[in-house]
Amino acid sequence: MRVTLLGTGTALPTGDRYQSGALVESADRSRRILVDCGSGVLHRLADTDAGYESVDAVLLTHTHLDHVADLPSLVKARVLSGVSELEIVGPNGTDETLDHLLAVDNVQERADLTVREVGPGQFDAAGFQMRACEADHSVQTLGYRFDDDGSDTETDGITFSGDTRATESVAELADGSSVLVHDCAHPDGEGGGDHASPSELAGTLAGRNIDTVYLTHLYPGTRGKEGAMVAAVEGRFDGDVKVALDRESFEV
Ligand SMILES: [Zn+2]
Ligand SMILES: [Zn+2]
Repeated sequence: MRVTLLGTGTALPTGDRYQSGALVESADRSRRILVDCGSGVLHRLADTDAGYESVDAVLLTHTHLDHVADLPSLVKARVLSGVSELEIVGPNGTDETLDHLLAVDNVQERADLTVREVGPGQFDAAGFQMRACEADHSVQTLGYRFDDDGSDTETDGITFSGDTRATESVAELADGSSVLVHDCAHPDGEGGGDHASPSELAGTLAGRNIDTVYLTHLYPGTRGKEGAMVAAVEGRFDGDVKVALDRESFEV
């Protein structure tokens, strides 16, 4: 699989980090799924080789605005480009949220959308096999693991935490992944609330077998404190720790 981080920011704009979104492509590039679609993600997606027309499905971690804001614009852009079909998959409440969100400009009426609500456990979307777990956020949120078909390496696949406090359920889902993209919204001692701090994340990742963790969902207050955040996670976690950047692309 190839993964491109399209948005690593939050509801507070910074100019360089757009809101949440990531593109996952199958190894042969025949299947593509967009994980979350916050403000700015459509432009980032348009700037990839894949483009917005080629996405087969959208997978939502939850329905906060910074994860769904660009959905109406994505659907409309596809309709105007002659691509009206799209599957949108997300946790309970997705259907109701989309009824409101996609009423703007009659977007929902003009497209051929399939909405599917999922819960913890295994399912397929756009031909990807994945597993979901409950995250720990202010609204129902799912973490997702994409399993890499046919891999015989010790670690494989990628896990997205969604927005969440540090929680064992996500760490357990991610255990054995090549990559974990995890919420780490604020430096230690600042913010907190419904998101993971570096020290809390270090606690749940200690002893887990994950090659690389990308810290994402970065509020403006993290600027200049990235090094300390990485060091705090590395203090108890053996894998590599990186601060995610918009447009960063890697193979898993
Ligand atoms: Zn968020
Ligand atoms: Zn959220």
